[in-house]
Amino acid sequence: MSTYVGRFAPTPSGALHAGSLVAALASWLDARAHGGRWLVRIEDMDGPRTAPGAEAEVLRQLQALGLVPDETPVRQSERGALYANALQALRDADRAYPCGCTRREIETELAAMGQPAQRGAEVVYPGTCRNGLNGKPARAWRLRCGDQTNVAWHDRRLGAQQQDVTHAVGDFVLQRADGPWAYQLAVVVDDAAQGITHVVRGEDLADNTARQIHLQRLLGVPTPIYLHTPLVLDARGQKLSKSNGAPALDVRDALTVLRKAALALGLAADSATTPAQWLQQAAAAWRVRWTV
Ligand code: GLU
Repeated sequence: MSTYVGRFAPTPSGALHAGSLVAALASWLDARAHGGRWLVRIEDMDGPRTAPGAEAEVLRQLQALGLVPDETPVRQSERGALYANALQALRDADRAYPCGCTRREIETELAAMGQPAQRGAEVVYPGTCRNGLNGKPARAWRLRCGDQTNVAWHDRRLGAQQQDVTHAVGDFVLQRADGPWAYQLAVVVDDAAQGITHVVRGEDLADNTARQIHLQRLLGVPTPIYLHTPLVLDARGQKLSKSNGAPALDVRDALTVLRKAALALGLAADSATTPAQWLQQAAAAWRVRWTV
C-alpha cells in the first residue's frame, strides 16, 4: 500500500474555474499515479472571502468530473483547536509574539526607513513589536522568524528554489486579532495533521512554500514534496482567478473540460470515450511523466 496522501485545498470564494481545475486535476492525477489517497480540504478560514454555496458547488463540479475524494472533506473553519495548539506551542518556544501595528503604521515605518512599500509587493514587517507592544492593543500574533531562515527547497516542476524568509517577508502573521487564522499556519498544521506527503497546487502559491517549510521546521512536522502546476492565463495574459472574473466551469461536457485542463498540464491527447476512461489514461500518462 502506498503511503502517498495528496490534497486539493480550495478556498470556497466561488465555483471552480478553468485555472483552479488544473490544480485539482493535477493533484488527483498525482495521487492516482502514486496509488495514493486524495483528500479535499475546504479552506474557508477567511469569512469575507467565503461565498455562500461555493463549497457545495466546488464539490459538485469535482464529482461531475469524476474527481471524488477518498475521505469526507474537512473544513478549516472547524479546526480552530488544532491551530490554537500550534500557536500555543510556538508561544511556549518564544516563537510567537503579539503585534499591535496597523498596516498603515507598518508602511509609515518602512517609508521612514527608506523602504517604501511597493504596490502589490509583499510588505516585509520591520519587527516593530518584536520586543513588546509599547502600550498598543494586540492586533495579531506574528511568528518570530529568528535567524536560519534561508530555506532551500525542491519543486518537482520548477526545480531548485530558495528564499530567505526573514529577508523576503519578515515575521509573518499567524492569527489576526479579529480571529481568523492565517493561511500559512492553517495549511502547515492541516498538511501535517492529515499526513499529506505530496502537495500539488498552482504556481501562484509557490512563493508561500519557504514560509511553510520554515514553520514546519519550528513545529517539528515533516515537509511534504512539492509540485506547483502551470497557471492558466486569460487573453490579457493575467492569471485566471475569481477576482479577475474567471467564469465558473461548466462541467456538463466532462470529457472536453478534462481534456482542456490536461492541455495546460502538457498531457498528451488520448482516445478515451468516457470521463472515467480518460482519467485512467491520464493517470497512466501522468505516471510516466512525473513519477518514473
Ligand atoms: N486555499 C488555497 C487556494 O485556494 C490553496 C492552498 C494550498 O493549496 O496550499 O488558493
